[in-house]
Amino acid sequence: MTVVATLRPVSRTWTFFEGEWREGNIAIMGPRTHAAWLGSTVFDGARAFESVTPDLQAHCERVNISAEKFLLRPCVAVDAWVDLAREGIKHFGPEAALYIRPMYWADQGFGGGVKFDPETTRWCLTLYEAPMPEPTGVAVTLSPFRRPTSETAPVEAKASCLYPNNTRALIEAQARGFDNCILRDMLGAVAELANANIFMVKDGVVFTPAPNGVFLDGITRRRVIGLLRGEGFEVQERTLRFEDFLTADEIFSTGNYAKLSPVIRIEARALAIGPVFRRARALYWAFAHDGAGAGAGGDSAAPARLSAAVRS
Ligand code: PMP
Repeated sequence: MTVVATLRPVSRTWTFFEGEWREGNIAIMGPRTHAAWLGSTVFDGARAFESVTPDLQAHCERVNISAEKFLLRPCVAVDAWVDLAREGIKHFGPEAALYIRPMYWADQGFGGGVKFDPETTRWCLTLYEAPMPEPTGVAVTLSPFRRPTSETAPVEAKASCLYPNNTRALIEAQARGFDNCILRDMLGAVAELANANIFMVKDGVVFTPAPNGVFLDGITRRRVIGLLRGEGFEVQERTLRFEDFLTADEIFSTGNYAKLSPVIRIEARALAIGPVFRRARALYWAFAHDGAGAGAGGDSAAPARLSAAVRS
């Protein structure tokens, strides 16, 4: 297998592709691959860190649901994804911080090429070193860009083709001196950050946008809601406006990559890293290390409503 020349070296990477583990940024597509040309890829992202893999099973479940929703053929059983991920982790040190990314894509199209053939679905599982970001805090702004609706994009799947919109939102926000941005839906309700879900705290009550089908109802989001409610916090999922965030006592984000991350500035207003964020993060780490599923960081305690969530 030829190693692809990349502009920048990638971190240590192992990928299971076509029956074997291969090291490095291996070639998985060609110029005739439908996904390389027209973006027909779905993926998911899980993590290994500190010898745990919280919600690995849920992320593997979701990539299959994404494939189905995207009209690809999910041909890897969830347990097979999980077993492969565990095998892949062994290529790294036990404590390694890894991103674990299962992917499906369409290989061939019909005729003119726009319509892909689900029977040509291919897949790989790639794992690579990616340090866990420190929770030092990020600055956020309102993005001029919006989340598309299900009529305008395949928002019901975690599809790669959704991400260029998030990329341009990030580039625009970063050009104005922010780290991340709040995207709204087409009706003006806050949806999420460009790469994570968003929470706010006001007078001790935790709020997060109610899933309405246009943003990713994240696995970490659901996990954190459950953990906070389990501790007696009131967590409300409801329609939120940007103005609600402008007067929040705390804002934080959830997502597989960084797990929980505090927001320390919204527009010009500074925010402290608050007690609810600290408690939520501590609860998540306790869950990751001691949750149900020995050595699995709570895999068997995947949120019961997960399937419904990713389908919404
Ligand atoms: N929204 C977007 C756009 C994301 O890319 C992510 C990261 N996967 C999330 C939310 C958080 O989802 P999860 O907790 O399932 O990783």
